[in-house]
Amino acid sequence: MAAEAKDKKPKDAKAGGGKEAKGVSAGKWSAYDATGSGLVRKRKSCPKCGEGVFMARHKDRESCGKCGYTEFQKKQ
Ligand SMILES: [Zn+2]
Repeated sequence: MAAEAKDKKPKDAKAGGGKEAKGVSAGKWSAYDATGSGLVRKRKSCPKCGEGVFMARHKDRESCGKCGYTEFQKKQ
């Protein structure tokens, strides 16, 4: 893996123009949920497919669109 962290382009990062376009474009597949207390990671990876394959959130459960694995959630 080539590390390019040292040479980040400020062009996209903080160019004047659109603001926070990154978060908006994520749409329904945003891996983060912005709450009043901050960013909370909610997406869960599928235990069968491995990391990188996220579970789709439903009302009371999460399911993998790839293999169909479903995990129910407890009420809080
Ligand atoms: Zn899966």
